[in-house]
Amino acid sequence: MAETRRRSWHRRLGHWFKELLWPMGRSCMLCNRATRSQSLCPACMERLAACELPRAYQLPGITEADGLCAAFAYEEAAKRLVWELKFGALEEAGVVLGWRLAAAVRQRGMDADLVTWVPMPEKRRRERGIDHARCLAEQLAKALALPCAGLLARGAEDTALQHTLSRKERLRHARDAFCPAMNAPSTEGLRVLLVDDVLTTGATAAACVRELRAMGAEQVFVAVACRALREES
Ligand SMILES: [Zn+2]
Repeated sequence: MAETRRRSWHRRLGHWFKELLWPMGRSCMLCNRATRSQSLCPACMERLAACELPRAYQLPGITEADGLCAAFAYEEAAKRLVWELKFGALEEAGVVLGWRLAAAVRQRGMDADLVTWVPMPEKRRRERGIDHARCLAEQLAKALALPCAGLLARGAEDTALQHTLSRKERLRHARDAFCPAMNAPSTEGLRVLLVDDVLTTGATAAACVRELRAMGAEQVFVAVACRALREES
């Protein structure tokens, strides 16, 4: 983990130096080629566009949610952008993903009042130096001109129940336990848009949706940057 943190610092320092030495131009986030004013060069833009999910693509349903959308398949350029956001702590990647996700949300007509995100465990957030889902949610909210607020926190383990579960089930249960965040604003009667980076089985998002409903949200939509076509961690 110290290694991840060091890598992310090196990256940030690298980007900072580039800006300092060459303030008039920028370089592409994915291939480092010079590019005018944009964070991705035209070739990488095309590579990213190739990852866009077709409009008719059927996502696995999260029965708890009122709607679900994803912008990209978790492959190639889209996967690399998520990596840059998550492990490189590169906020610029969140800007690109967030704004493209906004287009997918609009296309699906998922009208919401408030944007929130799937929170990551505090320990991991400190190690990585960024909460990638929060970064995505903030950019998406900006693009949709909606407020953004942290509504959920990772819940404590329910020890009474934990004793009856196997180690694997316990880990899964702890991972999927959520509770209201401290000082979370009221969600009573609101339409909430929940954001995450990658959708695999949908179990984590479903657990968040259940908690948001318990907190009084009238409708809950889920928006993810990428849909993983294969199971992986
Ligand atoms: Zn490029």
